[in-house]
Formats: sequence, structure tokens, C-alpha cells
Amino acid sequence: MLKKVVIFLSLITCITCSGHGPSVFLSNGYKAIYKSSTCDPDKPFPQMVLIPFFENASQIVPNCKTYPKHETALALFIFYHKWVEYFDDRNFAVRGMLEKVMIQWDTNKKISKSSYSLKGKPLENHNIIGRVESNSMTWVWQGYNHKISQSALFHELVHMAIRAKYGEHGDPDHEGTKYRGWTSAHSVMIVESKQMLQAFNL
Ligand SMILES: [Zn+2]
Repeated sequence: MLKKVVIFLSLITCITCSGHGPSVFLSNGYKAIYKSSTCDPDKPFPQMVLIPFFENASQIVPNCKTYPKHETALALFIFYHKWVEYFDDRNFAVRGMLEKVMIQWDTNKKISKSSYSLKGKPLENHNIIGRVESNSMTWVWQGYNHKISQSALFHELVHMAIRAKYGEHGDPDHEGTKYRGWTSAHSVMIVESKQMLQAFNL
């Protein structure tokens, strides 16, 4: 009888922990090109470096410290982990976005003629720390204290994820009511993702 119970339990375990369930959200192998795509401090900047494990994702860096590719890759893993936890990604639209995203890091902020606050208030000639440039490209200032968790990377990725999910725009007015997509849950998800990144001292 005991033997039967053990077999039954191990079968259940096999089913629930198959290793190919929803928790395995990115299964790309480590491609040879990732090894050769590195930042070279002796070559002119900006430089483009591929982000390992994210297919064709890349970053344009102003120096080799902003940011090492393994740090950016970890940030993307954390972003996706949190996104799936909050909103799921059944058709892999967000995963597809992450697998072709190009992140342009900058050591300087920019001024935008028109933008929106998180609550949807229109702003003019405001200092900005990130901006989505296209379906697959975003510009991001390096962040306070030179930390990815204190940059706008996750904020911009939410814009791009919304764009990938719903087509059309990426909800430029955030929690405002002019465009749809961004909810308070998205803002909370960003905060939690940043905390997770901080746990890795990034
Ligand atoms: Zn925004």
C-alpha cells in the first residue's frame, strides 16, 4: 500500500513540476554570438552589445559600465518574471518584444516638449529620463546613483509591453484616462520589479 502511495505521489510531482510549465518563460540557449558581442573600452563609443538569452535584444552603451550586458539581461529576466506574475503573457507578445528590444543608455537626461505625469497630467518642456522611440527601441537615462533599478528602464518596458499587447500606442498618459492600457497595477509592478533588482544590488 505504502509503495502505491509513493508511486502515486511521485506521479503527481512529475505532472506538476515537469520543468516545462509556465515558470519556464525563457528557454533560449546561450548562443556563440553572445560570447563575442562584448563592450570594448578601447573602441569608440557608443557601442552596440547583444543581451544574452534574449535572442536579438541589444543595448547601445555610452561606456562599458552603463551597463554590463549580464546586468541588463538580469533586469529583463526580472521584468518578465514580474510581468507574467501580474498580467501573464499567453500569446508571448511581451516575450517577443523583449527578444528584439534595443535599449539605448545615455549618461544625460533629455527635455521633452510634451509628456505626461504618471497620473496623466500633461507636461511641457519637462526633463525626461526615458522615452520609447519605436516598437523595439527605447532611450533610457542611466538612472540615479548609476543603478538600473533607479532608471526608467522598467517604466519604458511597460510602455513597450502595452504596445506589443494591444498594438497602437503604449499608453503615453499612464494612469490617465486619455489612452487605455496602463493601470495602477502596472505602476505597482514597476515598483516591485525595481525592489527585486535592488536585491541584486543593481
Ligand atoms: Zn511613461
